[in-house]
Amino acid sequence: MGALKPTLCARCAAQGKTCCQGREIYLTPGDVRRIAAFTGESQFVEWNQTADPSYLDQDDDPIWRQHVFRRDGSRRILRRAPNDDCLFLGPQGCRLPLAVRPLLCRLHPLTYTADHIDAEPDATCPRRLLVSGETVLSATGTPMAQARQWHQQLYEEIITDAPDNRTDLRPTL
Ligand code: SF4
Repeated sequence: MGALKPTLCARCAAQGKTCCQGREIYLTPGDVRRIAAFTGESQFVEWNQTADPSYLDQDDDPIWRQHVFRRDGSRRILRRAPNDDCLFLGPQGCRLPLAVRPLLCRLHPLTYTADHIDAEPDATCPRRLLVSGETVLSATGTPMAQARQWHQQLYEEIITDAPDNRTDLRPTL
């Protein structure tokens, strides 16, 4: 029996910088609760305006635009270490179990709006690492039914993220 081929994420990580470095990862209120319960910490959150202007172009996803951004344009994201790595990135990859990982991370590199999931992955995903006959879903080991479930959960949690019930976990200055 042949050796199992590494997942696309493992192949990508072996090439250098990964999607767990230098990324702005929005956290739903549910993500915050799950990560806080697992880690016993709350200092993994910050509110920040995006450094990537293309992120503000959410005209095709009014639910995202309405619920994710506050009036000043900031949104709740995972803090990064001084070297720009995600705080939860360890030598073997993400230190959070899949069920605790932010929903955005679980769905990456799929792209989507509230209405649908695109077949095409995020443009930054290195499709050159796919072998013949592989799709991004098969190479990341994510069944589409699972992706649809996470996508539904993501938007169910996003709509709970309204100005009146947001939990601001920013450290006091
Ligand atoms: S939470 Fe895990 S999967 Fe998400 S960016 Fe951080 S290290 Fe990567």
